[in-house]
Amino acid sequence: STSKYFLGIDFGTSGARVTVIDDAGSTAADHKQGYGPDGAADWAAAWERVLFELVAALPQDVVANVGAVAFDGTSATAMLVDAATGRQLAPPKLYNEAQGAEAVAAAKAIAPASHTATASTSTLCKLLAWHQAGTWQAAAAAGAHPRLLHQADWLAYLLHGRPDVSDWNNALKLGFDPAAEAYPQWLSSQEYALLFPSTVVAPSAPVAAVTAAAASRTGLPRSCMVCGGTTDSIAAFVAAGVSQVGEAVTSLGSTMAVKLLSEERVDDAAYGVYSHRLGDSWLVGGASNTGGAVLRQHFSNEQLQQLSQRINLAQPSGLDYYPLVGPGERFPVNDPGMQPRLMPRPDDDALFLQGMLESMSRIEAQAYQLLAQLGASKVTSVLTAGGGAVNDKWTAMREAALGVPVRPAQQGEASYGAALLARAGWRQHNSAGQQQ
Ligand code: ADP
Repeated sequence: STSKYFLGIDFGTSGARVTVIDDAGSTAADHKQGYGPDGAADWAAAWERVLFELVAALPQDVVANVGAVAFDGTSATAMLVDAATGRQLAPPKLYNEAQGAEAVAAAKAIAPASHTATASTSTLCKLLAWHQAGTWQAAAAAGAHPRLLHQADWLAYLLHGRPDVSDWNNALKLGFDPAAEAYPQWLSSQEYALLFPSTVVAPSAPVAAVTAAAASRTGLPRSCMVCGGTTDSIAAFVAAGVSQVGEAVTSLGSTMAVKLLSEERVDDAAYGVYSHRLGDSWLVGGASNTGGAVLRQHFSNEQLQQLSQRINLAQPSGLDYYPLVGPGERFPVNDPGMQPRLMPRPDDDALFLQGMLESMSRIEAQAYQLLAQLGASKVTSVLTAGGGAVNDKWTAMREAALGVPVRPAQQGEASYGAALLARAGWRQHNSAGQQQ
């Protein structure tokens, strides 16, 4: 049989990217694209256009042999569509759009205390804002069949035509309970529950083949299976290739985000810690406000590289900083009023940088300690993603502070993670077919 390809499509905060992998996980094609200046005017139209342009940019012989595709989208980006036609019933509400006090109050009135669905940016608060404005009710009265979809759900719908499917990860901020694999009663009893995706699958689970229309529009084969998706940050974690409990990924970008594969689910809203389900394990995550943005305030990437070479690991700086861009920290210290601490500043910039990197290494170690205290599995190894991953001196400091091996992640693109999900879904689909 012809060798198959697997398509991962990432819709992130600033643009979209497609990665094609083969059965061995090697990248066969890769293409990225911004949303363009028209994006903000009509997000849904921009996403649809970019989806089909991304696929069109791939070699035809690759597209014709795609076995499966999976999407990731920004978390809590919510859409209201007519299930019969796919028409937008309201402009999408983006991941970072905080909803008003009335919507948050309504979420808090029904959800358990400090549930992730009560955050002002949650999918539930977005749906409640539409509910309170009468948006879906008016559309229903006019004959539409309103449905709530996440961005990744909607993109998958454009290929498989099912307007009622989501996944455990995207549905978490709506209030879906991935342990019970159901909407909790406090949610399913609401009048607007009829708008929810009624099928919520595991990320990577085979959902449906592409429609005839989507196949002819894209060149994808009719047999191409669209699989359960995920969110952009989880796709980036999946890309790193972590599979065993205790393995973690620290993302050293503008901020420092940690994600740990854990046997136990851990949620603590005070620290902004919550868990996504991945297979039979939990992906426990938290994000600190320290990270590369503070380094960038002081040094260019070139300076960071040069100064780092002068750091003498045998001589710790003795400096005790808490590098922040502005006041306020949530994880691993919950202190909204915490002030940045970057004093005293030595004359030698290399020593100053050493103090910052040592301090951030301690904060990272504290982060994993806190997760363990909250009940998560103990960290056994750490992969690094983001701009800080290239810094060997920092890696050595982190290894010393964490007491476990630290290596750069080989793959960090969310689209690569989505492609791994597509490959997993295709394998699952195939083995199910052989059993019949
Ligand atoms: P984001 O996508 O969050 O903006 P990136 O993953 O692109 O971030 O990482 C960029 C960050 O990496 C910048 O804040 C920069 O200061 C930091 N960075 C770049 N080079 C180095 C280096 N050699 N050592 C440590 N940090 C670095």
